[in-house]
Amino acid sequence: MALTGEEVAVSSAIAAATLSLPVGLISLKRRLVSKSGLVASILVAIISGLAGLQSFLYVLMFYLSSSLLTRLKYSEKSKKGAAENPRGRDWRQVLGAGGVGTLFFAASFVSSLLGNLKFSAAFLVAALTSFAVSNADTWASEIGSLSKTLPRLIVKPWVKVPPGTSGGITVLGELASITGAALMSLTLWALSLHLILAVPSWAFISSSACRVPIIIFLVSWLGEILDSIVGALFQAKYYCPRCKVVTDKKLHKCGTTTVFYRGFRWLGNETTNIISTFTAALCACLLYLMYF
Ligand SMILES: [Zn+2]
Repeated sequence: MALTGEEVAVSSAIAAATLSLPVGLISLKRRLVSKSGLVASILVAIISGLAGLQSFLYVLMFYLSSSLLTRLKYSEKSKKGAAENPRGRDWRQVLGAGGVGTLFFAASFVSSLLGNLKFSAAFLVAALTSFAVSNADTWASEIGSLSKTLPRLIVKPWVKVPPGTSGGITVLGELASITGAALMSLTLWALSLHLILAVPSWAFISSSACRVPIIIFLVSWLGEILDSIVGALFQAKYYCPRCKVVTDKKLHKCGTTTVFYRGFRWLGNETTNIISTFTAALCACLLYLMYF
């Protein structure tokens, strides 16, 4: 007996909830996420499941690859002031990286309920792109901060900035970003080969062969470059009077409270992520609607 689209969606969401719980609890124990981050992550997992089991597995790949990299040479990054919070990512960071994608997964689910499969597939492409941008961004910052050379501002390459500063790029970080985008593109391609518990919009992606993964790779890579540009030009920057350096943080690693330096005060790292993931997702969605 074949399941209807709605039955597949609900079954996938239940599977996503069941699978994400042990992953989440291990992450909490290993301090990859805080308690609020865990709740937000499980919510993201369930909503991605409504867009098919493949969507959830794709998000899981993003989660596992970025979590592993966060822990890679953590003490070295910590010394440079470029490490993530030792208590784990909180709900703001989870939604900064995954909020846009989750909204597009929800839109894809609602469109399929309304019987508009073309839009359901386009919103699915948007969601997948958004997570690919976040993966490229995490890879760029987590691997890039290990670079032996100081980052340079993407908009002013002659200006060097401390590791971990938004808008600062290194060759190593850019190569990592391309690899992070390629990993998600390959994951998408591999998942579309085996459509178990697949909602109809995944069948659309599967029928496009390599074209959707290629679009997602290119757009997410550009999205990560946009993230660096927005980070460099507009994100709030602070100045540590003790170390005489510009930083993203209100409290510098030396323990000194920094002073506001430039940028928009309200524009922090999470908002920059939301702007870049949303722009890339929208571009991929429009490309899909126009050319597929
Ligand atoms: Zn300082």
